[in-house]
Parts: sequence; C-alpha cells; structure tokens
Amino acid sequence: MALVIRIDVDRPYGKHPFARHVLSRLSADFFFPAIETFGYLAELEQLLWMLNDEKARAYIFFRRCTLPSKGILKLIDQGGHEIGLHLEDSRSFETFLREKTILERYTGRSVFAVSKHGSGRSKYGRYHHVPYEPHKYLKWAQHARMSLFLGNLEDPALMPTNGAEHFIAYPSAFWLEPAWRDTDRYPVEWLLREASVRDVVLLVHPDNLLENPQLTEQFAELINRLGTTILS
Ligand SMILES: [Zn+2]
Repeated sequence: MALVIRIDVDRPYGKHPFARHVLSRLSADFFFPAIETFGYLAELEQLLWMLNDEKARAYIFFRRCTLPSKGILKLIDQGGHEIGLHLEDSRSFETFLREKTILERYTGRSVFAVSKHGSGRSKYGRYHHVPYEPHKYLKWAQHARMSLFLGNLEDPALMPTNGAEHFIAYPSAFWLEPAWRDTDRYPVEWLLREASVRDVVLLVHPDNLLENPQLTEQFAELINRLGTTILS
C-alpha cells in the first residue's frame, strides 16, 4: 500500500517574484508563450528531479496554460510518471473532450486520468468553469474510456469507488498544504498509518510545496517512507 501522488500544475510561472506571478495570470487568462528563461514550470521541474531521484512515481495534471515543455516531458518519461488533465472548462462533455484533446495532441500521449481545477468557490482563469460537479466528470471520464478520477474533497478518510470495470474514483485527497486540511483530525501521522494499509491520494501544488522548506521536507519523508504507486 502506498501514496498515489497527485500534482496539480496550476501556475505556469509560479508566484515569486511578483513579475512571474503576473506572467502566470497572463498565461491563464489570455496567452503568454512558454519561455523557460522566465522560469516556465520551474517549480514542477524541481519537483520532478526530486521524485526521479527517489524513484517515486506521480500523476501530473496539466491545465491548458501549463502544458509541459519538452524538458518536462523528458523528466516525466524518465520517472515513469502519468500525465493527467486538470480540467478547467467543465461546461459540457464537449468542452471536457476539447481540453483532453488539446493535452493529448500537445504531448503525443493518451490521457487516462482527470482532476478538476478549483473546488467550486472561486474563478481561476478565463476558461475556468467554477462549479465543482464530480458526478459529471465521472460519467464523462468513463465515456471517454479514461481510468481514473481524483476528486477535490478535503476529507482524506473517504474511500475510493470502483463504479465500473477498469475505472477508479477517489472523491478526496490528503492535501499536504495545511490550508486545505483539518490538521487536528488528519495530521501527517494519520497519513503514515492510513497509507500503510491502503492507497491514499496525496495532493500537492509545486509552487506552494517548494516555497515552504518544512513542507518540502515533509513531502520527501512521506514518499521515502510510504512509497508511491500508479494505479492503471
Ligand atoms: Zn487547480
């Protein structure tokens, strides 16, 4: 039993310094080319080096404004990671399929996993459809012959459902960033116990993780002690 690592790549240029934060917003809302000198996906790259060093495998979910560069794809292949869709435009099955196709064409790979950007509270980016409607994504993902849905609920004790053959859905995750977790009820010790008896999804965002050395260290220790798994 192990960790199912979920990495949501939300910001193309991270948050720091302020100029890169502005580029992140521009890329999400309009268009800004992927320029590595400005640190395009720099935090994800750093995280991938760390995972690859530890031989830990992860699901990495991309938005249409954080599509992986060639360098990132190479690191993904070297580490045996899985690419997933971080769904923004969830207005309909058609918009869902459009985003899946954009990601598949860009990466030249089939995509079997999906997570949703935002949990229904605020609008993040021009293409973002705010409501969080997991029952729809489950149906669409199965219809599109995908095999995994990772949901945004914050209670990590919820169990996964196997609604159909070759399809698994986790309604929630253990959010490592404490802002989204009931840290009294679910401290890191809870995760250490729980993931020793069943697979548990551990969710992180590269820039939030790496800006906090304590969190980075915690993450490294967790993957080292519990190991990681790819479900499909
Ligand atoms: Zn997101």
